[in-house]
Amino acid sequence: MPNLYPALERQEVVVHSPRHVRSFAELSNEEVEAVAGTWHQRSEEAWVSGFSYVHAAINEGRLAGASLAHSHSQLIWLRDVPPVVREEQALLDGSPCALCDLLAAERADGARVIAERDGVLMSAAYAGRAPYELLIAGEHWGGQPGFDGGVALVRALELMADGLRRIRTIEGPIPVNVWLHNSGHWHLEVLPRLTQFAGLELGAGIYVNVLPPEEAARALREAG
Ligand SMILES: [Zn+2]
Ligand SMILES: [Zn+2]
Repeated sequence: MPNLYPALERQEVVVHSPRHVRSFAELSNEEVEAVAGTWHQRSEEAWVSGFSYVHAAINEGRLAGASLAHSHSQLIWLRDVPPVVREEQALLDGSPCALCDLLAAERADGARVIAERDGVLMSAAYAGRAPYELLIAGEHWGGQPGFDGGVALVRALELMADGLRRIRTIEGPIPVNVWLHNSGHWHLEVLPRLTQFAGLELGAGIYVNVLPPEEAARALREAG
């Protein structure tokens, strides 16, 4: 449905379930699949309508900017590719692709790997900005912006729900931001908001993370 209070030209809200659940972690696999299908379908509609990019994001908890408790995502239709995605595009478009290199290194090392489903990998983000930051990515998709027929996106969102459940097992319900970067080699970034970003993080772009990703991955593997 359209967002009642859009910040930008066009913003849609995807309601994840008719049940009053507060977290993506509480969704059934059928509901996760429906969310993936909706993201895919609405993004195609946006591209057909002349928008260049759809920013898909989930905010959970007031500290992460959520104004509604009921689990939902936002689809923000943009005329231009946003700056963060444009910066990544240079690294993730074509070959060699930095994310392909990173995934190969993560698989070889294994210390930050948490789980894998059908070629989609969930790892504790290398040099993550905050405790339990996750990176979820599948095979390189070299076509037009899209989701590889949609199956890999379903697996990625299932892994994301699984990752959130593992974090909740350790830390309880936590505020979290999730977004899809869908240009070049698409991926999901999951940023739990367990710590406050302060002057060093926001002003200098230097993130102090008190939990090394290798320790986060070990704890999350055990919490599975
Ligand atoms: Zn790649
Ligand atoms: Zn990214």
